[in-house]
Amino acid sequence: MATARSSSKNSGSSSPKPSSTFREMIPSTRIRVLRTVDSLRAWRKPHAVDQRIVGLVPTMGALHAGHLSLIRAAARESHEVVVSLYVNPAQFGVHEDLESYPQTWPTDCAALRQLDRELADDGSNLGRISAVFVPSTADMYPSGFPGQAVDSKGSFVSITPVGEVLEGASRPTFFRGVATVCLKLFNVVQPDRVYFGQKDVQQTVIIRKMVRDFLLPVDVQIGPTTREADGLALSSRNVYLGERRRKVATVLRRALRAAELQYVEGGARGREAILGAAQKVAADTLAEQMALALENRVTYEVDYISLSDPETMEELSEVDPKKGGILSGAVKMLPVEAPQPGEDLGHSGGPAVRLIDNIILEPSSTQGEDH
Ligand code: AMP
Repeated sequence: MATARSSSKNSGSSSPKPSSTFREMIPSTRIRVLRTVDSLRAWRKPHAVDQRIVGLVPTMGALHAGHLSLIRAAARESHEVVVSLYVNPAQFGVHEDLESYPQTWPTDCAALRQLDRELADDGSNLGRISAVFVPSTADMYPSGFPGQAVDSKGSFVSITPVGEVLEGASRPTFFRGVATVCLKLFNVVQPDRVYFGQKDVQQTVIIRKMVRDFLLPVDVQIGPTTREADGLALSSRNVYLGERRRKVATVLRRALRAAELQYVEGGARGREAILGAAQKVAADTLAEQMALALENRVTYEVDYISLSDPETMEELSEVDPKKGGILSGAVKMLPVEAPQPGEDLGHSGGPAVRLIDNIILEPSSTQGEDH
């Protein structure tokens, strides 16, 4: 847990020190913990004068190796790395998992401490983790939080039509929430570079478009997807899965790989041939599961499996090898049936978990997969 290294607020002294001397740090590190917009701005100011390159890695906390790989990338090319940890309510639908979203501040601090030591030992980095930004919703939404409903009124950034398809079709307020909070974070931190993961490919397309369309002076970097040994993309939400569903959760990755294989090795360019391979894996795996007894099986619903244009994310009927495409999908792992006594059902009793993943079909000169 972060603690105050020196405290001035409410210290009982007759002349309290100004609050600017209050320095909350992650213990045993030089990483500042900044909890307000004002404190972040005050931290940022001298770095502008000194022309230090500031890199920002936005996260919702519950840090895993995927987040850490983005922080490593940021440290390679930034003098000062800021990691934001903020569970932004605006990107959760009214019936989504905002209340149960994993909050793991002590382990997040431990992960950042360990990574910062690693960065200190590695001479090839330009910088290290300088600060974590952990703002409150009151600070991030100064006019009051506008609400999570689709028809909520407030100051929002909407990137359409790309924000309305695929993930946006299933989660109508999601990208509005993401773009809005990212613009706020960019305005507060004023980073030279921002780092996002390919894991959330539609998010990367939307952030790039927001940066272009709003003329934001920031360079967007995308890091590859970090995976478990069996191919499952790391996600803070994987903790909801529990043991039984975890074993089957690779179905989406396997489906997308089958589609990729059709394109890369089978020479297929048409939608049916490419996506047919993915749909077959998803259907065969479900059939295998349905043949099992209730207490052993896992069921899921395929939300979508898509082949889309890399810039607009509109569905493609055929891939132009010069442009490539994006294979992406979402699968909802349903709560297990007939849970057994003592069975590990996952965080919060193992609710339905929506998993997403993607593979980029690179343009012909650099054909390959994401890794
Ligand atoms: P989140 O905390 O889920 O909002 O994610 C914060 C950032 O980490 C986003 O840019 C994600 O795309 C990225 N990210 C999440 N999972 C992974 C992963 N498995 N590999 C690489 N980046 C990831």
